[in-house]
Amino acid sequence: MIDLRSDTVTRPTEAMRTAMARAEVGDDVYGEDPTVAALEERVAGLLGHEAALFVPTGSMGNVLAVRSLVAPGQEVLCEASAHIARAELGAHGAIGGVTMRTWRHPRGDVDLDAVRAMHAPDMGPFFVRTTCVSVENTHNFAGGTVVPLDRLRDLREWADGAGVGVHLDGARLWNAHVATGTPLADYGAQVDVASVCLSKGLGAPIGSLMVGSADAVAEARVWRKRLGGGMRQVGVLAAAGLHALDHHLERLADDHAHARLLAEACGVDPAGVETNIVVVERSDAAALVEKAAAEGVRVATVGPTTVRMVTHLDVSRDDAERAAAVLARLV
Ligand SMILES: *Cc1c(COP(=O)(O)O)cnc(C)c1O
Repeated sequence: MIDLRSDTVTRPTEAMRTAMARAEVGDDVYGEDPTVAALEERVAGLLGHEAALFVPTGSMGNVLAVRSLVAPGQEVLCEASAHIARAELGAHGAIGGVTMRTWRHPRGDVDLDAVRAMHAPDMGPFFVRTTCVSVENTHNFAGGTVVPLDRLRDLREWADGAGVGVHLDGARLWNAHVATGTPLADYGAQVDVASVCLSKGLGAPIGSLMVGSADAVAEARVWRKRLGGGMRQVGVLAAAGLHALDHHLERLADDHAHARLLAEACGVDPAGVETNIVVVERSDAAALVEKAAAEGVRVATVGPTTVRMVTHLDVSRDDAERAAAVLARLV
């Protein structure tokens, strides 16, 4: 089976498992795990922020990051198909007391005019106050699209003037970095808090980081424990992340090339495929998933007429070519 349902399906390589087995560990709730500390320091440095916090999932990273900017009863503005709005099961409302309003953009991009129009400053007992704009880069459900750095700079400038915080859901920021050559720190400089995932394209079995100021991360450390996310000798997991940063970052370019190959096979313009996600609109989406599976290619639906394919570490050039041949026939 060639599994293109998601880039979360990768299995740790032998070299990664070796790095995990050899990791130095300690009790991280006591702040005594040197491998976790090294990973946190490294990722904070990559994004040019003061501190980072190792968390089990990107969803927890987003909850901690958003709540650092949005008090209960305040609101975050985001794109309508953002992961925080669609795929975190209401966590920001259920846990953070956060409300949301959304703008819509076909490529998941920032619509600064919409943000300006929606922005509600503190109006006392009349309107929900906007304290955060959230951006997803790359944008998952829009098809792995990159939010350009210039747009983020414009947003930052506006947000500074308006006194609003900026959150980045950077689950796949690595892909944006590799696709555009934009330094991670340039993205980091435009936002107050971010989350990044090690468990997607980087191929680690688990792990995400919430990134921000030392104060925001210190508070998030308390909230992580409160949510049941205080972990102990997890240097074994952090070691997988460090290994992934050393060995699996630059190779994301291969995944992007493989995605373009699949796009061509499916009649999708490869120029619109910026990273490792291909979205195909089909009235017979469910049937296509079934037929592809019967021929050894697993793809997924992310809507009634939307098929999604994601390339990753466990899809070789050969796999991508074989999958493309199957899909070209079916589509
Ligand atoms: C995967 C993903 C997350 C986090 O997902 P978890 O399954 O909670 O780790 C967050 N944002 C985006 C855009 C994602 O694709």
